[in-house]
Amino acid sequence: MTTVDLPLLPLGRGRDLSSEAGVDCPGDLPAASDPDLVERARAAKEALGDRVFVLGHHYQRDEVIQFADVTGDSFKLAKDAAARPDAPYIVFCGVHFMAESADILTGDDQQVVLPDLAAGCSMADMAALGQVEDAWDALVDAGVADDVVPVTYMNSSADIKAFCGRNGGAVCTSSNADVALEWAFDQRPEGRAKILFLPDQHLGRNTAVLKMGLTLEDCVVWNPHRPNGGLTPQQLRDARMILWKGHCSVHGRFSADTVDALRASIPGVTVLVHPECNHDVVTRADLVGSTEFIIRTIEAAEPGTSWAIGTELNLVKRLADAHPDKNISFLDRTVCYCSTMNRIDLPHLVWALESLVAGTVPNVISVDAETEKWAKVALQRMLDLPAR
Ligand code: SF4
Repeated sequence: MTTVDLPLLPLGRGRDLSSEAGVDCPGDLPAASDPDLVERARAAKEALGDRVFVLGHHYQRDEVIQFADVTGDSFKLAKDAAARPDAPYIVFCGVHFMAESADILTGDDQQVVLPDLAAGCSMADMAALGQVEDAWDALVDAGVADDVVPVTYMNSSADIKAFCGRNGGAVCTSSNADVALEWAFDQRPEGRAKILFLPDQHLGRNTAVLKMGLTLEDCVVWNPHRPNGGLTPQQLRDARMILWKGHCSVHGRFSADTVDALRASIPGVTVLVHPECNHDVVTRADLVGSTEFIIRTIEAAEPGTSWAIGTELNLVKRLADAHPDKNISFLDRTVCYCSTMNRIDLPHLVWALESLVAGTVPNVISVDAETEKWAKVALQRMLDLPAR
């Protein structure tokens, strides 16, 4: 197995330069059994005051979320960080690509800290820049590159965002993927326009078919581990959506069988899933939407209603705890945390905060100037999309 197939070293040791995340984790971590961890985190945060701004992604553990100044999805958190130019230290409790986005959107005098460098994202790692450049060369050879607009999901590394910026494309989130696809199709002559969608094939397919009226036959999947992506030049010429063969290892676990089983066992249940789920799960669900949409939907739900939710387990548990008047189930038979998100635990947060108090800035995530410039172009094209 190559490092591209399994870029995150399972035990977080060593270093894998082909991964979007580093995996070295320097420092003397407090023991997880230390009974004073909560107090130490509180004291360090208090000592830092306004100099630190702690961001917590919705999929983080409760022990970490309790210290977040704001919570949100990756894009909201990056914007929240940009809205606090006075804080020199941004501690990002999330994964590597999110910290990169925060670095891109914050000022040069601000430093973004990721408490554990092993907190990468398996989906983001599924599209490496060299692989995407090879795919683009194949599109040139097939004579269609001029008709293709690359669009990348927020959940991608900074250099993939920069690739899209350089090649006339944009970034999208799970909330605005349909608007981004509409924009991208409008950038090329009608009837010829194509989109290379990175790195999540499911978000690309679900958006194209369920929101844009394309068919499954309009979509092909580019497999970076096969010659020419496993596609013929004619298939590339015929396709309207060229989907990168990437997926989320958390949302990819939900199955159509589980949806059917839950419907049979919970009368009147409403199935609510994230668009990173497989197409057959999404087509069986009642409601599909981003993490923020899932939260808003549950907040607005009537007491006594039943819900089966297909997204990361920390968030589903938190929603169930916050809404005891609603019957909330998790849409999987087994535990389904995001293992890399869970790398950020209280010992790592304490270590990061106490290092800052001591005058050391640990685990700084810094995007080089050229990558930042083009990634910003792609992000700005997304920000310029019409609101819906
Ligand atoms: S939940 Fe999926 S997309 Fe999000 S960080 Fe984890 S692996 Fe990546």
